[in-house]
Amino acid sequence: MTLQQDLAARIATSGPITVADYMSTALLHPTFGYYSTRDPFGTDGDFTTAPEISQMFGELIGLCLAQSWLDQGSPAPFTLAELGPGRGTLMADILRATTQVPGFHNGARIVLVEASPILKARQAETLADFSPSWTDTVADLPDLPLWLVANEFFDALPVRQFQRDGTGWRERSVGLKNETLTFGLSPVGPQPALDHRLEDTKDGDLVELNAPAQAITADIGARVAKGGAALIIDYGDWRSLGDTLQALRGHAPVDPLDAPGTADLTTHVDFEALGTAAAPAAFTRLTPQGVFLERLGITNRAQTLAGEMTGATLNAHIAAHRRLTHPAEMGNLFKVLGLYPADAPPPPGLEP
Ligand code: SAH
Repeated sequence: MTLQQDLAARIATSGPITVADYMSTALLHPTFGYYSTRDPFGTDGDFTTAPEISQMFGELIGLCLAQSWLDQGSPAPFTLAELGPGRGTLMADILRATTQVPGFHNGARIVLVEASPILKARQAETLADFSPSWTDTVADLPDLPLWLVANEFFDALPVRQFQRDGTGWRERSVGLKNETLTFGLSPVGPQPALDHRLEDTKDGDLVELNAPAQAITADIGARVAKGGAALIIDYGDWRSLGDTLQALRGHAPVDPLDAPGTADLTTHVDFEALGTAAAPAAFTRLTPQGVFLERLGITNRAQTLAGEMTGATLNAHIAAHRRLTHPAEMGNLFKVLGLYPADAPPPPGLEP
């Protein structure tokens, strides 16, 4: 049995499914789901993320979160949370960089929000010295001031896609044609959640609606408004338009409907939807990752680290710095949105 066969049988019985249903099944099906069955990172995997490229990424995030915590009077205890921590590399770098911040480690209750049992085990290994705890959802985080980071988490959440038809919308679905999964469109209907998109779209345009991302951000916003900050880092734009569903296998793009469960599926994040959902927390200006890291001092840090390096190690280090910050690489594609209490300063590196 494969997930393709499982989905085909389900669609044959009950009809086409939404793109969101397809995404969440392909990524998190307990037996066949992409994240349930593998560790996808690194050169041998399907994709590489910023914390896996260089320790500098997590170190600077750590200093940013710790400074924001100091700016708000060092409340303790507090939750230090990460959503979708992958191999645990980012949290390990955050913790190493903040060792010297008085009270930060003592006050921190480290909580990881992770769905994949395989990655949970990997995180437990990486973070064995710090006794983190795990929850399945943001709703289960402790009721404490909250400093949180999410890197490439929101892009993995399931979106629904709608194609404009007059003043209504047709939902994009996944159905079957000759036993093969294929995209289709549902009948036209109103879609109140997309009323504001009637202003900036025309007939035939496709827009994406990420309800789980909005619900999670609303929960984070309600907590952060009472004390804390959140850094949301991902690819996307202030108001996304068009089909951004993409699949990666072995670092190459593939058809998102091909062999579900064996490729990573993501969409671009609509940061406007997140900023709006975060009220009563304030949100910062959406900032390119390269600009954010430069403001936090990545060039100084890169030079310090380079001092001890030679040859291939030095070249790899220079390439990693460039990859994280250069506008033609990740520097511009990836963006940072900060959430913070309206009466506190924004996290360092970000502007109101
Ligand atoms: N932040 C890490 C990993 C990004 S990959 C890094 O930068 O390297 C996405 C992560 O989110 C994985 O750990 C995946 O298992 C997790 N994930 C995906 N969907 C999730 C969900 N609905 N709930 C919790 N975790 C999820």
